[in-house]
Amino acid sequence: MSQRTQNKPSAATSEPAPATFASLDPRTGAVLAEYPIHGADDVAAAVSRAREAAVWWAGLGFDGRRKWLRKWKAAIASDAQSLAEVIAAETGKPVDDAILEIMLAVEHLDWASKNAGKVLRRRKVSSGLVSANQESTLGYEAYGVVGVIGPWNYPFYTPMGSISYALAAGNAIVFKPSELTPGVAVWLSDKWKSLVPNQPVFQVVTGLGATGGALVEAGVDKVAFTGSGPTARKVMEACSKTLTPLVAECGGKDAMLVAADADLDAAADFAVFGGMGNAGQTCAGVERIFVADDVYDTFVEKLSAKAAQLRPGGESGASYGPMTLDRQNDVVRSQVEDALDKGAKAVLGGRESLRDPYIEPVILGDVPEDSTAMTEETFGPIVAVNRMRDLEDGVEKANRSSYGLGASIFTKNKAQALQAAENLRTGMVSVNSVLGFAGVPSLPFGGVGESGFGRIHGADGLREFARPKAVTRQKFRAPLNLLTMERKGRDMKIAAWMLKTMHGRG
Ligand code: NAD
Repeated sequence: MSQRTQNKPSAATSEPAPATFASLDPRTGAVLAEYPIHGADDVAAAVSRAREAAVWWAGLGFDGRRKWLRKWKAAIASDAQSLAEVIAAETGKPVDDAILEIMLAVEHLDWASKNAGKVLRRRKVSSGLVSANQESTLGYEAYGVVGVIGPWNYPFYTPMGSISYALAAGNAIVFKPSELTPGVAVWLSDKWKSLVPNQPVFQVVTGLGATGGALVEAGVDKVAFTGSGPTARKVMEACSKTLTPLVAECGGKDAMLVAADADLDAAADFAVFGGMGNAGQTCAGVERIFVADDVYDTFVEKLSAKAAQLRPGGESGASYGPMTLDRQNDVVRSQVEDALDKGAKAVLGGRESLRDPYIEPVILGDVPEDSTAMTEETFGPIVAVNRMRDLEDGVEKANRSSYGLGASIFTKNKAQALQAAENLRTGMVSVNSVLGFAGVPSLPFGGVGESGFGRIHGADGLREFARPKAVTRQKFRAPLNLLTMERKGRDMKIAAWMLKTMHGRG
């Protein structure tokens, strides 16, 4: 059992009360609150309540749901400061960063609620020549109950990327937040309850990994998981027992490519934001930078000068906060040491930059490709800066990773940028900015390879949480009677002729 958990004896009986766990402020280690560790029975009860609420929710239709989602959105946005304070306390990030996170999440909630009808409502599709006697329609129906499992690094924005789209598509939600950030989830469910107390369309279960495991096995109709690859594998294995569909949003090792013609000041600015912002604890943050040989030294100089200005800390006005997950310090330390031992240059900071729970910015240069700082997700304010010949070479180097979440490209040459974007093995690419895609609600978000599969956000994110259902209605008897046991030789002759004429010429 983790050091955050405890089993309190009940005063009335000698039976142990349900175990609880503490949510801690990573800046001070202070206990913020205790939350129950929900067991399999609690989770099953929540799913069963959700199943009933899902019937009401789906029955409201797109317009009815939109009204409730708008009210929820307004309740969140008008009380954003209090939510930001919960986020800041549980993650240690500055309140301003938390406000930004809320703003982006609310944009998605707004987009999902406005566009669900447009994307998912039943519509006519072409039937083609051979089936011209059919009227064909395609509609999407909600799965029912979606189990959402979330991480701690963006405890509001990230799970809301699943929750908003799944709700707008007509599903009820049971959400298991990270054990590091339960207060954010409870704040959110309290807001829902204050609007719709009798319809538990959105519920939260709290606990450690086992509570997440129980949710996956509680008969939910789809699982939306965001977290690390190793946990995704466990979730996928559990889902496989019941063929429960899964969307998996996992880690990243995102590359930034800086071409010789790039605006180096802007690129350095974005590199600092993408690499060090949120203490580097961003799934699609910048971890590897490949810079054209000609401008490598100048870029590294600019990047170091900007990063050296950053001041991590717990006070307001700090550039970023502590490592939220204390064992993450060890991961970062071992990666920095591995890189330096293998011959990387400490361009800014180094071993001495790691002072728990804060890590000063570290820039490593000429980092050997086999060091873990190049191959594994770092999740700390560390960037590796290596050389590339040109964008083509940079793409080839960036693609050597088993991860493939996002990437960024800096160049003034639009055609080359778009070509490089096509060739990067990632789910998303920003040109001349970082994380540009994360703030555009109409774009899907997700990765390839070790970064997971499936998409949240955008029309694809809505479709992720709905099953397509195809319907045909025969309008008149087909001139060619093919789908009957009474078909004649003449019908088959015409069919064979059509096959050759329509498709036989390549
Ligand atoms: P994690 O894998 O440790 O935990 C994620 C969630 O899974 C937590 O709620 C945890 O309690 C739960 N869990 C643990 N064991 C489980 C099990 N056996 N069954 C079901 N649930 C279980 O990840 P984390 O440390 O919370 O988050 C950090 C990771 O998340 C990083 O790798 C980061 O890149 C990734 N992330 C990805 C995205 C994205 O959209 N791609 C966004 C944010 C974070």
